[in-house]
Amino acid sequence: MLEKDLHDVPFYYQSIDFEELVREYPPAPDFFRGVFKLSLEEIRALQEKRLREAVARAYKVPFYRSKWDAAGVEPGDIKTIEDIKKAPMYTVEDIRQSVDAYPPFGDYVGRDVLAGEIPWRIHSSGGTAGEPRPTFYTPWDREVGNILRARSYYWHGFKPGDVVMNTLLYSTHNAAYSAHESLWQWLGCIPVTTSAGVVTRTTRALEIAQKWQVNALVGFPEYLLHMSQVAKDMGLEVGKDLKLKLVECFGKSDLVREAWGVPAYDTYGMHEVQAISSECPYGGGHHIWEDAFIVEIVDPETYEPVEPGEVGTMIVTALYKENYPIVRYDIKDVTRLWPQGQCECGSWMQKIDPIHGRSDFMVKLRGVNVWPEGVGTIVATKSGLTGEYYCIVERLVNREEMTVQVEHTSDATDLDFIQQDLERTFRDRLNVGIKVEMVEPDSLAPLTGAGVLPKARRLDDRRKLTPQ
Ligand SMILES: [Zn+2]
Repeated sequence: MLEKDLHDVPFYYQSIDFEELVREYPPAPDFFRGVFKLSLEEIRALQEKRLREAVARAYKVPFYRSKWDAAGVEPGDIKTIEDIKKAPMYTVEDIRQSVDAYPPFGDYVGRDVLAGEIPWRIHSSGGTAGEPRPTFYTPWDREVGNILRARSYYWHGFKPGDVVMNTLLYSTHNAAYSAHESLWQWLGCIPVTTSAGVVTRTTRALEIAQKWQVNALVGFPEYLLHMSQVAKDMGLEVGKDLKLKLVECFGKSDLVREAWGVPAYDTYGMHEVQAISSECPYGGGHHIWEDAFIVEIVDPETYEPVEPGEVGTMIVTALYKENYPIVRYDIKDVTRLWPQGQCECGSWMQKIDPIHGRSDFMVKLRGVNVWPEGVGTIVATKSGLTGEYYCIVERLVNREEMTVQVEHTSDATDLDFIQQDLERTFRDRLNVGIKVEMVEPDSLAPLTGAGVLPKARRLDDRRKLTPQ
């Protein structure tokens, strides 16, 4: 190659000051010696300092500048955590509109991603609600996200040298790579890249798990539950044939724990903001990584803050992001704040419930908010059922009705009793009537995609199709 044809390359290894990175956002174990134990005042002071910086960065990005100008808000107006409410919030719809107006990547990234100045990554959501939207990561943003996720894994018992089967889907979706990078780069674990059943047959994945002595699993709970059933069908026993010691999932850790018979923990995040919180092994709930986030909980319809302890949608501000800032993003996941205080684990970081569901999958039945995931949690507690379920919502004349199809087990006998008992429990626990329809074992898989898709479909919303 001729000298005149040579050009510079933005090498990854030069793209971050790694010493600064681990000083600002310490990975485990240092995190648990320091930031994890900060007092409430120290956490708030750190958040406010980072909030002011995050707001200044965001204002340089056209997406935010136009919204804030329209709302009459300037970066100088936001100095304290209370002040954050002055900034307008936004949803995925705003992101989609930005992509439509400024194709192909919108105006929410504060830098020309095609200029080749830094090594960008692009990923997207799983596309569970609408078109997947492009999300860009700078090396700094990416590595902070990985450090946060790796803190959870470390806390839950992952050790260097663990052989970890990653059942998340390696695709345009972010989750598999995020788990992979956290395990490999920040914990010294060995990720095994089988993905879900759509990439590697579950029986094959289990053969690999046995041969390579996989001792931990990562994935979505639906697939991990399916996998445990397949392992049982294959006659594989944990402790004998499988060396499994630990499972890490996104929700439903109690079901996964019971299915596999080993400790299982929940880590929560979403691709645009990355790992937000982690299940506390001491007494449940999740701690938010508050050195990196501010989380508000508001009513999903009025956007007014809910009373402490009330359920609402999460508004997230990521304090660490560089060129793709996140300030007051309604991520549509529904949860509840726990009372402030020091946890048994020693941390003062804010606790929340595991995610109750998606506010855009929220169904309002005669004034009561219901989430398919909440329905599934109840189905899972009943005997005579496989745990598989599918919710159908229709608008009938002037009211909305939900019917839940549930699979009975092949040896279930009194189906009428099971149906009535489940309907009664829905009424007691959710305060609204939901019809139950019993269906044959394995009959829902074509509707839900359970066992094939990494995240099963649970809601058929026919309200738009039925007359008003
Ligand atoms: Zn705790």
